[in-house]
Amino acid sequence: MNATLNGWLTSQIDKLKEQSLYKEQLVLEGPCNNRITIAGRPGIINLASNNYLGLANHPKLVAAACEAAGKWGAGAGAVRPITGTLQIHVDLEKQLAAFKHTEASLVFQSGFTSNAGVIPTITDENDVILTDELNHASIIDGVRLSKAQRKIYKHCDLSSLEEGLKASAAAAKRLIITDGVFSMDGDIAPLPDMVKLAKAYDAAVMVDDAHGSGVMGGGRGTAYHFGVHEDVDIQLGTLSKAVGVMGGYIAGSRALIDWLTQRARPFLFSTAQPAPVVAAIMAAIELMEKDTSLTDKLWENAAFWKSGLKGLGFDTGVSETPITPVMIGDEATAMKFQRALLNEGVLALAIVYPTVAAGKARIRTMPSAMHSREDLVDALGAFKRAAESVGLF
Ligand SMILES: *Cc1c(COP(=O)(O)O)cnc(C)c1O
Repeated sequence: MNATLNGWLTSQIDKLKEQSLYKEQLVLEGPCNNRITIAGRPGIINLASNNYLGLANHPKLVAAACEAAGKWGAGAGAVRPITGTLQIHVDLEKQLAAFKHTEASLVFQSGFTSNAGVIPTITDENDVILTDELNHASIIDGVRLSKAQRKIYKHCDLSSLEEGLKASAAAAKRLIITDGVFSMDGDIAPLPDMVKLAKAYDAAVMVDDAHGSGVMGGGRGTAYHFGVHEDVDIQLGTLSKAVGVMGGYIAGSRALIDWLTQRARPFLFSTAQPAPVVAAIMAAIELMEKDTSLTDKLWENAAFWKSGLKGLGFDTGVSETPITPVMIGDEATAMKFQRALLNEGVLALAIVYPTVAAGKARIRTMPSAMHSREDLVDALGAFKRAAESVGLF
């Protein structure tokens, strides 16, 4: 190891540890379920995963993955434009476009690479991108890869967005980018008003629906929930969260998808998803197409969980979705609370500065369709005891 590099790495890590920002890796000793095993302790109630519908270990998905491994093998063997496009990728893209009511779709290896793929590919130095200040890291990186000018507007603030639109009249194209559901507060972007503004100023709209996919609009996402899917030009979905597997996709017009197949760099230069992954995703979408029972169960559990927390006197912030923050404020108290919760048999993680603003530390909880009523009742008891033990109540 190069001594200069090693010295730099060690000092960076030490700095994180001094600031209490160093994160130990959590290791699950079994599948991501409603109850999980950590450090030899089974039965810990899992409120920290994005496996909203419990699809990550659904028997239909597991069976589809096994069957596809037998038929197509473990890997795709090349990038999509060489020999990596298997019939099953094309089938999935057709299925996703039909599910989303769009002309076409294109699948990427992850939600992260979908953002890296689409944003720099559809904008250039003559353009302006208007982006919400709380947008996800992968949007931020996608915007950095673009040559377009960047304007950050205040979180879900339409007048701040309009100011940006007024100030960018000289741009060749304008692209507004927002999360559909924001992952730290669980609030929803005001898409109907955003779409109206976009029309008035001739701007395109892109919604990153990583936390809306499988959750909002009976699973079809936030744009569908609001009935504005025809007016949202680019919908990004993830296949890694509620869908339970791994991947991301762009849904939109035929021209958009055509252009991405020619220019989007993660599509051109990073290997295609393995067939077992694709088959499991198809099984998940098939379940969602059939009925909304899993999504309904998720929302039912979320309502029970939220009202239970409120009943105990917790502040759940501005959440409108299953993502339920328990607002604490002080960073050190939030960290203490997280440890007390784990002692009580609940995994829910503290989110602190710099991920959220200083003094806005919270415990983020994500109830899911896989939780039983008993899991949630037990977890509420644990929250009460943990809060008492750290002096919150
Ligand atoms: C999680 C997330 C992503 C990344 O999705 P992956 O499939 O996990 O790479 C992108 N955008 C948003 C808003 C997210 O929350």
